[in-house]
Amino acid sequence: MTDPTEILRLEDVTYNWPGSASFGLHVPNLTLAQSETVLLLGESGSGKSTLLSLICGTIIAGSGRVSVARTDIAKLSAGQRDRFRAEQIGLIFQQFNLLPFASVQDNILLPLRFAPERHNRLSDPKQEATRLCHDLGLPDGVMSSKAGNLSVGQQQRVTAARALIGMPPLIIADEPTSSLDASTQATFLELLFAQSRAHGTTLLMVSHDARLSSQFDRVIHMADIARTTRGAT
Ligand code: ADP
Ligand code: MG
Repeated sequence: MTDPTEILRLEDVTYNWPGSASFGLHVPNLTLAQSETVLLLGESGSGKSTLLSLICGTIIAGSGRVSVARTDIAKLSAGQRDRFRAEQIGLIFQQFNLLPFASVQDNILLPLRFAPERHNRLSDPKQEATRLCHDLGLPDGVMSSKAGNLSVGQQQRVTAARALIGMPPLIIADEPTSSLDASTQATFLELLFAQSRAHGTTLLMVSHDARLSSQFDRVIHMADIARTTRGAT
């Protein structure tokens, strides 16, 4: 029996990037429970982003199983996987993937178009987008600005609002604080933790900054959960 509070499980997952000097990743076992906040630490090039891509289903494991909310994501078609990801996972990546010519509001509301359950949790999505921006310390009136006109740190906070809106059960964040100053970083993390406490959201965040460790329920080191290989050139 799987644990009903389990949100993520990787079992004997392997992945090899194609190419002559291919990088291989093997994760024997990793599970995350509902409402856990987990920091994933590891050297640059140790496969952290690869692991997040496997969890998001943007790449598919060569063998083994990746289950999100007790669903084996390899069993979904590509289209089903896109909808499943939009519903279950709020994503905050290093490269923001904002639509630069669209307004901040439209960027934040975008995932709701593909995730009816997230949409239906909100009585007033625009008001929720405004609240998230306010809580993230973005200036009043930012909602109508073009996303591409904001500073890098402001854009990163818009991606956080876009990830949090509609309370997806899992937030995946890949080095989200690297472009933020210390005080903005603290506000940013506090909002992620507040959502986790209020809605039982699980947070899996990658960083190379071990100083953040004490703020998380659990700290995982890439070297402890994964074996990596590198093929001959
Ligand atoms: P980290 O996020 O820990 O810095 P990555 O998962 O980004 O590590 O990268 C691990 C290794 O996987 C890299 O050294 C690179 O060789 C390989 N890799 C990452 N992305 C790709 C890609 N899109 N195509 C081919 N190889 C890749
Ligand atoms: Mg990375």
